[in-house]
Amino acid sequence: MYSKDTIAAISTAVGDGGIGIVRVSGPEAIKVVNKIFKSYGKKKGLTEADTYTAHYGHIIEPKEEQVVDEVVCLVMKSPRTYTKEDVVEIDCHGGSIPLQKILELVLKVGARLAEPGEFTKRAFLNGRIDLSQAEAVMDVITSQTEAGLEIAMDQLEGGLSGQVSEIRQKLIKLLAHLEASIDFPEDEIEDFTIDEVGERVAKIIEMIEKLLATSKRGKIVKEGVQTAIIGKPNVGKSSLLNAMLQENRAIVTDVPGTTRDVIEEVINLDGVPLKIMDTAGIRKTEDEVEKIGVERSQKFLKRADLILLVLDAHQGITEEDERIINLVTDKDTIIVVNKTDLTSNLDLDELQERIDNVQIVKTAATERVGIKKLEDLILEMVFAGKVKATDQTVVTNMRHKEALEAAHENMLTVQETVGQGLPADFVTIDLKAALEELGKITGNTLGEDIIDQIFADFCLGK
Ligand code: GDP
Ligand code: ZN
Repeated sequence: MYSKDTIAAISTAVGDGGIGIVRVSGPEAIKVVNKIFKSYGKKKGLTEADTYTAHYGHIIEPKEEQVVDEVVCLVMKSPRTYTKEDVVEIDCHGGSIPLQKILELVLKVGARLAEPGEFTKRAFLNGRIDLSQAEAVMDVITSQTEAGLEIAMDQLEGGLSGQVSEIRQKLIKLLAHLEASIDFPEDEIEDFTIDEVGERVAKIIEMIEKLLATSKRGKIVKEGVQTAIIGKPNVGKSSLLNAMLQENRAIVTDVPGTTRDVIEEVINLDGVPLKIMDTAGIRKTEDEVEKIGVERSQKFLKRADLILLVLDAHQGITEEDERIINLVTDKDTIIVVNKTDLTSNLDLDELQERIDNVQIVKTAATERVGIKKLEDLILEMVFAGKVKATDQTVVTNMRHKEALEAAHENMLTVQETVGQGLPADFVTIDLKAALEELGKITGNTLGEDIIDQIFADFCLGK
């Protein structure tokens, strides 16, 4: 299925760390590392080592016999390893020079540089994990919140695979049953009525829908909610953001897609990464940013999933507010009436009447009043009564979601056909298609090129 050569890569993060690991996997892994390893004291080489043993010694440049680094080699033998192949991990000092040097030597004496994700790909190709589990490895590494990590871990441990397999088993049984009735129409097949087919189809549809329903939460937990705080200058946008930042742990992370002109703060709101596009520009000088007003708000609005529109209760609604209010159309919006600690010149009832399906929250950002209520409202809005944290298995991956949706479509067609009382051979094509779609999630029915593409997105050394 793939060339069984021996691969190697630096498996720890780039940059200087206490220790670094060069990982080597493949049939020659132990032999290869043994060529450049000299153990302390004992003369026994790694080739005689037992599985799961650690060996202290030096990596030496074999020609000049020059010591490169002091290391511990972990020898792990097939099949109980990450890749199911022989694996040697060389724990060395974490600077990039020793790591690079050791990798170079390993490559020189017989290993090939691993492609991104190739270790995990081998774990998949060798049948240790399925594709959705392999994809979870990346999610575990990149998860931003504990909730995200929990979901990824569940997927890594086969939560999603298990549910998808269960649906596929049901499909296969039904298909086998139907095909038997096509091939042997005279034989009376026990208990096999059109009603029963209908029932089984309905059950399968229900199971797919249950998984699909988790994907909204999955997307939110994984990708976060793009949130824009908009409003004219001086209504309290920066103050509001600061108040929210102070009450919640800020997530320190490189957010992909963060451009220079948009500063993005990510806060962890009960496991939901709230990505706040900082139109208030708290890191910039006030006057530089505040000039931009309406135009800037407009730009942020386009990218937002959720809008917090801030008004100044003390000042009341001005013409500029009106223009910003009119920008908000079909997006989830919360109107934040701020500075409620001051005397109010804003008629809340009238405002609510005018924009009837928008929620209004009163705050005093500088006094930290109303922030909790605002946050509760955000969470409520974001999940809109959908699946909550209690469900362990959550569909977070777009690829998985698309496969589920396609399978769902196929099954609805099956249901329709069955409903019309058409003979069995009319539905087998759609059943097979559904089976194939679900198999894409676990990787049973995916072409090699697509599998390659999925692993190409992995980071090096994984
Ligand atoms: P932005 O321009 O919308 O980002 O507004 P800022 O957050 O910079 O606030 C503008 C001014 O209003 C500052 O002097 C804040 O201290 C003040 N301010 C913000 N929120 C409140 C509030 O809830 N009550 C009062 N009294 N003042 C506030
Ligand atoms: Zn400001």
